[in-house]
Amino acid sequence: MNSQWNGQFSSFDLVARLDEHRRTVVQVGDLEIGGDEFVVMAGPCAVESERQLLETASAVAAAGARVLRGGAYKPRSSPYAFQGLGVEGLKILAKARAETGLAIVTEVMCPEDVTLIAEYADIMQVGARSMENYALLQALGPCGRPVLLKRGMCATLEDLLRSAQVIATHGNPDIILCERGIRTFETATRNTFDIAAVPVLKAVSHLPVIVDPSHAAGIRMLVPPLARAATAIGADGLIVEVHPSPDEAWSDGKQSLTFRQFDDMMRDLEPYLALRERPHRGKLELITARGGH
Ligand code: PEP
Ligand code: MN
Repeated sequence: MNSQWNGQFSSFDLVARLDEHRRTVVQVGDLEIGGDEFVVMAGPCAVESERQLLETASAVAAAGARVLRGGAYKPRSSPYAFQGLGVEGLKILAKARAETGLAIVTEVMCPEDVTLIAEYADIMQVGARSMENYALLQALGPCGRPVLLKRGMCATLEDLLRSAQVIATHGNPDIILCERGIRTFETATRNTFDIAAVPVLKAVSHLPVIVDPSHAAGIRMLVPPLARAATAIGADGLIVEVHPSPDEAWSDGKQSLTFRQFDDMMRDLEPYLALRERPHRGKLELITARGGH
């Protein structure tokens, strides 16, 4: 672990784990993220239609997911790609919540949209491309909803924690960190899953940590094994892309699981849940080294 961090928690002291026993448990209705339960969030990359979302919602709920994901506002690297259904997508998400009882996580891309999206979402997602959008992070302070903060694709863990600190300093302590793979020289996968991010973040921060194996892998067949590894190493949950017919998805079809594959993935997680590493129960040299500063 980076010894440079010793005694230098001041840049993210609100989210640093200065007290060994402190954990943030983010409450979303009756759901607790960062507590004992392993929370799986699942759904399509983007909301495409009412039918697509409602079918997916009931399939992922039946398989054990507790939160429904789906972007209504999509950050796309091409201006010609589908940009999301906007407010119509938010309404479809709300309908899916009413029908299934699943909580909703959806992306917010700019400060102007925060109030509107907070009316529909249970959790506000900050995407990898927005992790350094400080105006957005500030606007999420008073939004009244927990924030799922994804790691930027070229961000260090310290950068991620500093962004979390911006949200926290603006009044919102309910932050869930998400490792979703980083850019490296490797091209076999869409991103490189930084598995060490999980125990490092759990050791230095009191915030919950989840993993997005879909964007880390970029390839459907790699999602279940990465999910199992994330579970075993102590993540508090997962966020996974699932689509009724992935090959026809408007975005991220190659990394989306079918309903059947998601169900199988959930079943195959069982033994890994039992083995789940709880790094925060371990020795925390990094924290204790800070001593009485
Ligand atoms: C997404 O969740 O669909 C997404 C765009 O993810 P990321 O911000 O991690 O690329
Ligand atoms: Mn996606």
